[in-house]
Amino acid sequence: MSEEQLSAFLETASFRVKKILQEYSSGDLLRVQHFLDPVLYQRLQKELNFNLKNDQRKVYEEIHVDSTLNREYTENDSFFVEVLCTCKCISYIARKEEVLFGLKDRRTTFAFPVLFEKKKDAKDVMVDRCLGCGNPLPIDRNGVCPQCGRVYDLALFDYVIKEMGL
Ligand SMILES: [Zn+2]
Repeated sequence: MSEEQLSAFLETASFRVKKILQEYSSGDLLRVQHFLDPVLYQRLQKELNFNLKNDQRKVYEEIHVDSTLNREYTENDSFFVEVLCTCKCISYIARKEEVLFGLKDRRTTFAFPVLFEKKKDAKDVMVDRCLGCGNPLPIDRNGVCPQCGRVYDLALFDYVIKEMGL
């Protein structure tokens, strides 16, 4: 990746990780499902369902994510990029409105690796025009058409998150 590509990649990585943490806090990852590898999605959602069943939520608030490149490599049919994310946020475990663990008024910082995978045969661009509304604009970094909200399978043309050490 060139320096320019890398800086755009890291910006998108931070954006998506932040979004995942926000949705994780809400207890449902459906809206970020296309950011994630199906196996990882299943695992995280299972963890969420388990917590909800036990009347607990892991909550992340006021999230700020920074990403730096750890390593890039190619393996089998995929390109991999591992980034190290640093997250500043307020995090706590709650039951209904009661905080069980963590401080609601204090920001903590933690770091975790995030591994992105892109198939070698992925296309450069998914579509020129939205398949839903014909909008000629490229889809945004949410992987969603900004006009009609159609969600695209990122794995066909972009990196998806394969592993995330939350
Ligand atoms: Zn559209």
